[in-house]
Amino acid sequence: MLAGVFEGEGKLSIKEVLEPKVTKPSDVLLKVELAGICGTDIHILEVPPGHPATPGAILGHEYVGVVVDKGTDVNTLDIGDRVVVDPNLTCGVCRYCRRGLPNMCENFTTLGIYLNGGFAPYNVAPAKALYKISKDVPLERAVLAEPLSCVVNAMRKLNLQVGDNVVLIGAGPMGLLFLLMIKAQGAGKVMVIEPVPFRSKMARDLGADIVLNPKEINIKEAVMDLTELGADIVIDAVGNQFTTALDLTKRGGTILLFGMNENALPQIKQIIIPRYELKILGSYISWFSFPQTVSILESGNVPVEKLVTHKLPLEKLYEGIELMKRGEGIKILINPQE
Ligand SMILES: [Zn+2]
Ligand SMILES: [Zn+2]
Repeated sequence: MLAGVFEGEGKLSIKEVLEPKVTKPSDVLLKVELAGICGTDIHILEVPPGHPATPGAILGHEYVGVVVDKGTDVNTLDIGDRVVVDPNLTCGVCRYCRRGLPNMCENFTTLGIYLNGGFAPYNVAPAKALYKISKDVPLERAVLAEPLSCVVNAMRKLNLQVGDNVVLIGAGPMGLLFLLMIKAQGAGKVMVIEPVPFRSKMARDLGADIVLNPKEINIKEAVMDLTELGADIVIDAVGNQFTTALDLTKRGGTILLFGMNENALPQIKQIIIPRYELKILGSYISWFSFPQTVSILESGNVPVEKLVTHKLPLEKLYEGIELMKRGEGIKILINPQE
């Protein structure tokens, strides 16, 4: 079969590999129906790499598929079931797993980064990573389960109240998922900060009340004008916007740091946090949030499929990655069956 394989040092090959088979009793063979390109894939392919991965692994950690074979121990799924994948495999026995924090697992590994993933027509995954989803859900929506599960985890921590004014910094794929969830939860004004016109338009189309371009206006003045006191909640979906977030949050408000950037070393005026009783939260991947994510996707209440800008066959994976790098796509999907 044809697969998108990470070859190390910024190299991705689209090449013939052997079709995988179920070898362990707990494994499931999936026919991959769609796989999304994630910002992490771009970081993996940077030189020097912005994110580690295993050379030889088939990339693609956001995917949806159908069960076509299963090991003898798998009794939670049947042949023909459609499933979404939680690619982060945790050990269950390390000190963090045993304290109920599997997203902090000391031994975790990831399908599509360290192990073979979804940029291929077939993939083997352990049954524990799979969540059944209704076949009534459009594939373009189901394929967003993994990124949405990370946002669902963060939203639970945020504890957004109806009518809260929210500033969202960054309208990339994750920021836009936040935007949809914030709207669905009944926020007040939703203000998005985004300089790229293509992304700004998408944010407006998806229901942002206003999109502010930090290159053109004074963001702090604009947010104060719109909210009087500042935002109840500020979300940094970029990864280096902590100082801006501190400027925009009202007294007693909450800042969620979600985006990640290894090089961000912000200079902050620390006194602002105790003096104004700000709450600073971090959120990392998903934490028991897949069941709720599947409910959201099945309900159709949050039209995440609107983020999809391109759908390409596997042989155009390079093209998809280039589009993503140039910021010309939001969610780019690969159909490995084409
Ligand atoms: Zn991802
Ligand atoms: Zn663990």
